[in-house]
Amino acid sequence: MTMYEVIYEKRQGHALPASVIRDTIQGYTEGRIPDYQMAALLMAVCFRGMDDTELAALTDAMVHSGQTLDLSTLGEGTVDKHSTGGVGDKTTLILAPLVAACGLTVAKMSGRGLGHTGGTVDKLESFPGYQTTLTPAAFLAQARRHGVAVIGQSGNLTPADKKLYALRDVTATVDCLPLIASSVMSKKIAAGARSIVLDVKCGSGSFMKTPADAGLLAEKMVAIGRAAGRNMAAVVTDMNRPLGRAVGNILEVQEAISVLRGEGEADLRRVCVTLAAQMIALGRRLPLSEAESLAEAALADGRAYAKFGEWIEGQGGDVSLVRHPDRFPAAPYTETVYAETAGFLSRMDTAAVGLAALALGAGRETKESAIDLSAGIWLCRKTGDFVEAGEPLAHLYTSRPERLAPAATQYRAALTFSPDAPAPTPLVYQIIS
Ligand code: URA
Repeated sequence: MTMYEVIYEKRQGHALPASVIRDTIQGYTEGRIPDYQMAALLMAVCFRGMDDTELAALTDAMVHSGQTLDLSTLGEGTVDKHSTGGVGDKTTLILAPLVAACGLTVAKMSGRGLGHTGGTVDKLESFPGYQTTLTPAAFLAQARRHGVAVIGQSGNLTPADKKLYALRDVTATVDCLPLIASSVMSKKIAAGARSIVLDVKCGSGSFMKTPADAGLLAEKMVAIGRAAGRNMAAVVTDMNRPLGRAVGNILEVQEAISVLRGEGEADLRRVCVTLAAQMIALGRRLPLSEAESLAEAALADGRAYAKFGEWIEGQGGDVSLVRHPDRFPAAPYTETVYAETAGFLSRMDTAAVGLAALALGAGRETKESAIDLSAGIWLCRKTGDFVEAGEPLAHLYTSRPERLAPAATQYRAALTFSPDAPAPTPLVYQIIS
């Protein structure tokens, strides 16, 4: 089939044969298919969807567009987790040492911030010296010695996804179920872990806006992983408000450390224990209740916190900051946003909160822009809270004073107030295990 015919067939709503999907992905990765034709096909997929056979073929073609990692020398207890992206989502910083402290091995690749969402690799770079790039041998050695190794997406892993994601980002084709499912699962399968837990975000700060859409995405991804022989679980969690109180790299690292020290926000802690229990249950083949007790114990007795220090030090990061998180550099400019009237904070447009943090410098406006690690937002109030007029809603932080006023306006516009308390929303909508 010519690329014209492939686009036309999908536009008409017909299923594409596996061989055609494989050749298309290969042709695009090798540069034989131009961006404009692939963009047209992606848009046709957004409108017409893909059936399960097509989705499996697409994921498989993306996995085999490059190298795959072999983690078998690390044993059967390798476990990975992936979040579909959120605001204030610092769960990997907590989960990786937590499940490693419970006897599992987390050898994973994480992403950088994208749009309004933050990325684990940027957060880890808050530690001076932390190496986000390791040779395959050093990556495996770190994982074997400490139980945790986290680096950036590297090497020739799923090059098709790298190209496709960049194209989707500029052609309004990101929030499409088969494209998200194949993108996430191709990376996870290629990265080699035996067990994979997916944190599928749902709400105003995520790609999936409703529990039904998020649940369907979770089910499709779990099915893809199981077909590839992996132990799979998925948790659909709330992203109608940022997770925890910190949004921005150093602020989030400090908040993650406080959870690892047994303090921190209840919502963040709950989501982490729920995900950790799934990872431990899958990786160690334990009943969920036992896995959850192990996770709680490792947080309570300081093993998860000790493992965090071991991990950061092993990858070259300044471990004194794990012991003294107050010594991270603080942003030189701050502003507090105050409530103008009394009322319930009834809704947060979470993506807009992420964009306000980005405007302060916490994310990248272009692929090349540098991140201001100390920039971000500390949320004093979240959805459901009652606020009096004049009370602080949030503290904004930046190294560029001219950014404060526009970010404050953006932040205020992200909030809705009402005289009545909003209906509570669950933190965890669904678990597939
Ligand atoms: N995260 C990914 O890795 N890919 C997507 O398409 C969306 C979120």
